[in-house]
Order: sequence, then C-alpha cells, then structure tokens
Amino acid sequence: MKLQAVRGFKDWLPEEAIKYQYLIEIARKELKLAGFQEIKIPVLEKTELFVRSIGEVTDIVQKETYTFEDRNKELLTLRPEATAGICRMVIEHGLYMRPKPLKIFFIGPMFRHERPQKGRLREFFQIDVEFMGNLTPYYEVELIELALKILKKPLKNQREPFTLEINSLGCPNCRPAFRDYLLYALEKEKEKLCETCKERLSRNPLRILDCKKEQCKEVVKGLKPISEFWCEDCKNHFEKIIELFKIRNLSFSINSYLVRGLDYYVRTIFEIKGEGLGAQDTVCAGGRYDFLIKELGGPDLPATGFAIGLERWALCLFGEKDIPEALLEELKPQCLLIPLGKEAKIKGLKIISTLRDKGIKISALFEDRSLKAMLREADKLGASLVLILGDEELKENKIVLKDMKKGTQEKISIDEIEFYLLENLL
Ligand SMILES: [Zn+2]
Ligand SMILES: [Zn+2]
Repeated sequence: MKLQAVRGFKDWLPEEAIKYQYLIEIARKELKLAGFQEIKIPVLEKTELFVRSIGEVTDIVQKETYTFEDRNKELLTLRPEATAGICRMVIEHGLYMRPKPLKIFFIGPMFRHERPQKGRLREFFQIDVEFMGNLTPYYEVELIELALKILKKPLKNQREPFTLEINSLGCPNCRPAFRDYLLYALEKEKEKLCETCKERLSRNPLRILDCKKEQCKEVVKGLKPISEFWCEDCKNHFEKIIELFKIRNLSFSINSYLVRGLDYYVRTIFEIKGEGLGAQDTVCAGGRYDFLIKELGGPDLPATGFAIGLERWALCLFGEKDIPEALLEELKPQCLLIPLGKEAKIKGLKIISTLRDKGIKISALFEDRSLKAMLREADKLGASLVLILGDEELKENKIVLKDMKKGTQEKISIDEIEFYLLENLL
C-alpha cells in the first residue's frame, strides 16, 4: 500500500513553505509594531471548551470538529479556531490582571472536518489576533485598519484585491428580537430553503443569512435587515465606527446580511474578502465578543479580534502556482564548496563552519564523485559561486573559486575567501 497524507492535510514543499514563512514574517512584524505579543496555545483542548464558546448548535461544533476520546476516555477536540483556546489561557493564567488592553496573537494550524476546498483544507493556518480590554470604537477601527495593512503589505503594485465588509449583530438587548423575527419570517418561507438551512432554522437561524445557495439568497433578500432591530446604543456604536472609517479613508461596504459562523460575536463584525477566490473568498474575519470570557468563567472583559487565513491570503496574492522569484532565490545555496580528497574534506568542514559564522550562506558536497559530475550538480542546485579545494590547492593554502554565471575561475588564498565572498555576494 502506498502511503499518502490524510485527505485535507497538505505537505508544504520548500517552495510553498518559503511563501508562507514570508507572509508570516510580514504579519509578525506588523503585529509587533502595533504592540501585540505572541503566544502559543495547544492543538488539543477539552471538547467542552468549544461547546461552551462556539456554541453547541453551530455547524462547527455539530459537524466540523475532529473530536475523539483519548486513552483515558477524555473527550478532546483539535482546535477548529483559536479564540476559545486563547480565552481559556487568559482565564487560566490570570492574564486579565495584567495592564490593559491585552494584545496578543497566535499563528498556527486549525482543524475542521469540512469538504476540502481551494484555500481551505481540513488543516489550515491562521494568524489570530486578539484585543482585550475596555473597548471603544477607536480600538476597533485601529484593529480593522491593522488587518488591512497586514494583508496589503506584500503588495508592491497598485492592485487592490481586498474589500472590507462590516455589520453589527446587535447586543443581548436587541438581538433576541431580531432572532424572533427571523424565526417568524423564515418559518413561512421554510419550503424554499435548502436542506441545511431547514435544519438551521431551529438551531441557528442567523446562519441562514449567510447561505451561499441561490434559493436561500432569494428568501433572505425579502427580510428586514438587522439594523432595523438595533437598540439605541448599538446604533450609535455602529455610526461611530462608520464615521471613523470615513475619517481614516478606509473603503468599506455595509453588508446587512453578514453574520459569522460562531455564536459568541456581538455588535461589530467584519470580513475582508479577496479577489479571485470564488465562493469562499473570506481572507480575514473578525469581530467583538464582549461576553465570551465571562461566559467561560472569567471576568467581565470585552474583546475583539480577527483571524487571517494564511492559505487564502497567499492564494489571493500569488495565485495558485506563482511564487515570487525573489523567494525562490532564497532556496538556492549562494556558495557551494567541493572538497576533493580526504584532507580537503576535513579542511572543508572547518571552512564552511567559519564562513557560516560570518553570515555567508554555503553548502558543501562531501562526495567521491568526479569534479565534473559535482559541478553539474552545483549548477542544478543553483549555486552562484563554487569553491573547489583539491590536494594541490590545499598544499598552497589556496582554493579555486568558480563563478557559475560568468564561467570564470581564479585561485585565491584560503584566508581571503571570506572577504572575497562578502564582496562578490553583496
Ligand atoms: Zn443592542
Ligand atoms: Zn441555505
């Protein structure tokens, strides 16, 4: 039997890994500039955490998690998202007692047992950003602007592949009325809904607003928007955010049917969509979850956050296959040492170690093949400079330096390699 990766789980070959690492580094740098601190949470949590946070009746907990009993019969779940685990961490370690706002981020894989699709496999990576403290609309706008800034950072041209959509889900004072209205209005149209939405009607009617099926979109169009149900506070809050967006010159659109797949959001939610991604085009999504920490047994700590889907972000920037030339360049050895003979190989170990200490990127071929064969290999590997050390050269304390692009070569003193390479490689 041929061994293969699990369906929906993907290997990153070097060319892909370098692309994702590049994006992760960009995000990490921007987040640190904005005062966020990196943390790590475990891959596994008790299932109960997700049932209590994400909500028992959401699609995620009902159908999409990897949940299993371990050898001690404890029910565990591979994290389908990061916010719940981060809240658990904040409560468990008393992080809420630290000076606020608390600004943290986490980068890692999430797991959902969905139908694998472009840009979203069963294992997918997220850059998860959380902001906890007494929230004003200023913080929210700062955070949304930061998300946009990170997404656009790798773009050097004028392309604008990202669009921002925003909505408010109301608060515990006004959302129940909207939910009641939805149940009433949708019950009458029940027959027109898709099978999934028929199920959703009793357990999570808000999600119907988000259904991608045409038949459901038709029904949703005839509904009153949630904005008609907002209480005075929610209305003012939303207006303040819109006002700040305009002052900051952020382009956005209000999408009254925008909801999130998670139960815990209140008020502001947003999505940033990417061009060319098809139906699943959300690159970044987030919103406020003011009561989640309290519901999980912590203090009253309003919070907001967002997550960027790394694979979708990459897909939107680079397309399916395109990997920027500059990144591929990083995979090549700049210099390659070919020591010929036993003495030269021993000396070679010292040379590469010394040069690496000086910050020079160098590999070596410690093999017993012909020089010609090894030079061919060096060419395939993409080395720009090859250092050849034979017994003859070793006696003179010299080394042959071959420029693979120009095809020229010269003999220099071993003690001068470092200076020569630094000069030629920069
Ligand atoms: Zn409200
Ligand atoms: Zn539907």
